[in-house]
Amino acid sequence: MEQIYDLIILGAGPAGLAAGLYGARAGLSTLILEKAAEGGQALLTDRVENYPGAVPEVENGFSLAARMLEQAKSFGAVSKNVEVQSVELDGDTKVLAGPSGEYRARTVILATGASPRRLGCSGEEEFTGRGVSYCATCDGAFFRGKDVFVVGGGDSAVEEALFLTRFARKVTIIHRRDQLRAVKTLQDRAFANEKMDFIWNAQVDGLEGQEILQTIRLKDVKTGEIRQITAEEGDMLGLFVFVGLEPNSALLEGKLPLESGYVKTDENMRTQLPGVFAAGDLRVKGLRQIITAAADGAIAAMEAQRYLAEKESD
Ligand code: NAP
Repeated sequence: MEQIYDLIILGAGPAGLAAGLYGARAGLSTLILEKAAEGGQALLTDRVENYPGAVPEVENGFSLAARMLEQAKSFGAVSKNVEVQSVELDGDTKVLAGPSGEYRARTVILATGASPRRLGCSGEEEFTGRGVSYCATCDGAFFRGKDVFVVGGGDSAVEEALFLTRFARKVTIIHRRDQLRAVKTLQDRAFANEKMDFIWNAQVDGLEGQEILQTIRLKDVKTGEIRQITAEEGDMLGLFVFVGLEPNSALLEGKLPLESGYVKTDENMRTQLPGVFAAGDLRVKGLRQIITAAADGAIAAMEAQRYLAEKESD
């Protein structure tokens, strides 16, 4: 007989890992399924300075996520690298199917998070990995001593632009308005940094090059004027894109009501389906941070435990 877990968690970012810790520690047989590396978007963060207790000089998203995983495992949570391809969430037993089999559980916590939004301009796909990047921690060092460009005006864009000043000669933020959206502390740091520059009221209109990114075409959103940034002969331009997030909810379409792709829950992380909870960036919520993801995960796991206890006493 195939094992039916008390709890399956889909996604191993901070929400999923916190849910794994709380679920396993509460004595639930807990399986965490993750298609990529455990840690989610935290892995893309070089500096974690607003998670309570994290010391930015020694903590990055990778180290924090690694310890979260070990902590969940220490209480008995099992983590598997599986890309779940379909989910059946109705009924008492939930079924999650991967390429080499099905996983069953009495409760599920959806914690698939969100992914970087694409610009949607011509050349973006072609030059991804050849000049276009969505991860400064991963690719910043390739641009040592070069000029790089960052698109976006939110916390991610400004934080990652500041990180890139460690390598680059100059970092230019390209933003579609004339004001940043990022929190004031980040803005202050960016404006005070001599390596930072800004191009306001501009959208990336298209990307060009031979094999590698060599030209960024910009459009002034006020005048419509087009200008080009061109690399020095044979050089690759670096364009780091941080223009927000898209929820990873394709699997859930038609299974649960979604709002702009995000899953609606109540404050106890319950979705409309009994025994199905959602946690972290996947949820409709105001503040998407590591701490709010972790808190969601803890609440969701405790609610799953309560749901199971109530079922057993029926
Ligand atoms: P965000 O806050 O949604 O900001 C996205 C930025 O990209 C905005 O400035 C937006 O411009 C711009 N943008 C959106 N679509 C665009 C397009 N097609 N072309 C050009 N620009 C576009 O996204 P985020 O910075 O990735 O942050 C996501 C969430 O994570 C936020 O809640 C943020 O607070 C959180 N976060 C927190 C931290 C931290 O606390 N240290 C770090 C990173 C992220 P407009 O301003 O004109 O809308």
